[in-house]
Amino acid sequence: MGRYTGPVCRLCRRESTQLFLKGERCFKDKCAVKRRQYVPGQHGPTGRRRKLQGYGLQLREKQKVKRIYGVLERQFRFYFKRAASSKGVTGENLLAILERRLDNVVYRLGFAASRSQARQLVNHGHFTVNGRRVDVPSFQVRKGDVVELSEKTRKNAMIQANLDTAQGRGIPSWLELDGASFKGTVGAMPRREDITMPIQESLIVELYSK
Ligand code: SF4
Repeated sequence: MGRYTGPVCRLCRRESTQLFLKGERCFKDKCAVKRRQYVPGQHGPTGRRRKLQGYGLQLREKQKVKRIYGVLERQFRFYFKRAASSKGVTGENLLAILERRLDNVVYRLGFAASRSQARQLVNHGHFTVNGRRVDVPSFQVRKGDVVELSEKTRKNAMIQANLDTAQGRGIPSWLELDGASFKGTVGAMPRREDITMPIQESLIVELYSK
C-alpha cells in the first residue's frame, strides 16, 4: 500500500489524539482534534463509538505510531524484527529505532515544522551527516553524529522560522542544537523517557508476537 496523501488531521481524529503532523497549526486552537472530538466518518458527532479492546486496541496503537513517524507497514515490521533481535526491551528498542531516523532528528532539532516536512528536506539533499550528504530519511543516526543543514539552504526563511518556533517545542536531551551554525549533534541514544507522545509500545509488541 502506498503512502497516505489525504487530509492528515483526519489521521489524528481517527486515533482520537494529536499526532502533530501539521506543524504550527497543531499548537493552535484550529487543531481538528481540539475542535472536533469525535472520529471522522459520515455519522459525525452522534456516531456510535466502539470501546476497543484486545486486537483492535493493539492494531490502533500500531497505526498511531506508524502515522506519527510516517512509516509504512513493511518498514515498520522490519524495525520490529530488528528491535526484537536486539538486546533490551523490544518496545523501547522499537521506539529508539524510530527516533533515530534522520527525518525525525531533523524535526526534533527544529529544522522542520513536521516530520513529513523533514522527510522532504532530507529527500531533497538539504542535510549532511558528518559532512556527507544524506538524502535517505530512514538513515539511522548514531551517538556522536553531526547533522548539518547545507550551506545553500541556510538563508531559507521557512527553516529560520521553523528554528524560531521550535524553541517552544523543546529539544530532547539526547540531541544538542547549535542554531547559529545550523548543526545538531547526537549526544546520546534516545531513551524511553525522551519520547513524550502517549504511546503504549507493549500493545504493538503483543500484536506482533501473536
Ligand atoms: Fe493533528 Fe496537527 Fe491536525 Fe491537530 S492540527 S489534528 S495535531 S495534524
